[in-house]
Amino acid sequence: MIPLVKPYIPSADILMPELQKILYSGYIAEGEAVYQFEDKFKKYIGSPYSLALHSGTDALHIALILSGVKNGDEVISTPMTAEPTNTSIAMTGAKVVWGDVNPNNGLLDPESVRSMITERTKAIVLVHYAGMVCDMDEFNKISAEYHIPIIEDAAHALGSKYNGKMIGSNSPFTAFSLQAIKHMTTVDGGFLCLKTEADLDHARRLRWFGLDKKRSRLENDITEVGFKYAMNNVNATIGLVQMRFVEDIVGKYIANGQYYDRMLSNIDGVHLVEYSPHTEASYWLYTMRVERRNAFIKAMEAAKITASPLHHRSDTHSIFKASKRELPNMDKWYSEFVHIPCGWWLTEEKREYIVNMIKKGW
Ligand SMILES: *Cc1c(COP(=O)(O)O)cnc(C)c1O
Repeated sequence: MIPLVKPYIPSADILMPELQKILYSGYIAEGEAVYQFEDKFKKYIGSPYSLALHSGTDALHIALILSGVKNGDEVISTPMTAEPTNTSIAMTGAKVVWGDVNPNNGLLDPESVRSMITERTKAIVLVHYAGMVCDMDEFNKISAEYHIPIIEDAAHALGSKYNGKMIGSNSPFTAFSLQAIKHMTTVDGGFLCLKTEADLDHARRLRWFGLDKKRSRLENDITEVGFKYAMNNVNATIGLVQMRFVEDIVGKYIANGQYYDRMLSNIDGVHLVEYSPHTEASYWLYTMRVERRNAFIKAMEAAKITASPLHHRSDTHSIFKASKRELPNMDKWYSEFVHIPCGWWLTEEKREYIVNMIKKGW
């Protein structure tokens, strides 16, 4: 089977000497390797500040707290995502309020979000689902008009762009994931990109129990409860090695995605997604709508190609019962969308084979 997701791990001759060095260095906790990784990552993204964390979920949780989200507040989000986007909102005690999606790409619809804003809305969480970028022209306007911060969940969007710039420098907070199946992995890990030094300092304290690492333990006074969200030097060392390959690897996802955009544009039963203005996708998964989806998935399976919707809509979970509402566009999108393999492991032959199998019909 050609898989939908697959971790990219640099070859052993390159990775293992670095791992061995750090493992026996006597310093495997948060340290120099983490700070170097933060520096490399923020330069790659073009973001003023970046904080390395144990996971993307941690990045979302800290971003919500920094946005001022508290118990009883409201956060507008999307059901079209992986679970951590919305469980991290639930962790703050805030109520998730669902926006409906654009039925042509599954991304949050700005007009629907606008219609759900109340005086209790403390943040809007946008998911650049599967590497497609939300309609940032409109969301930036909404954020400025209502003074509500946007948190971009860019777990799928490493290397995606808005206005020619990498996702990660637009909003006050952008969360990335380095979990096993994302574009780039450190086994587990995450980044929070931030815009101000004050937010960075606050986020740093939240990363480590609420302690200020610049002061000695005896001089410290915890004034706000923090967490144990730090990245360690071992994961960071994997990350530093991954950074040597990241442009090449992300570039392969993008080249394969653009190839599908060209080759699948005129096929009966296939509807390509609509990309938001001034954005460039990084195609973590190739996403499209197909007619008779079950038959499509079966035909692909017979050809040894994994095709799947992959994610379960968040709004059907019991913990979000109180947020339930009608989302007609989400219903339509959810019944038709599917992903096909698009990542670095696809050779030119394999992607051509996938296109030919789709052209055969189902
Ligand atoms: C993977 C993922 C996250 C968080 O990832 P971690 O596993 O905590 O690193 C957040 N949002 C989305 C949409 C994801 O797919």
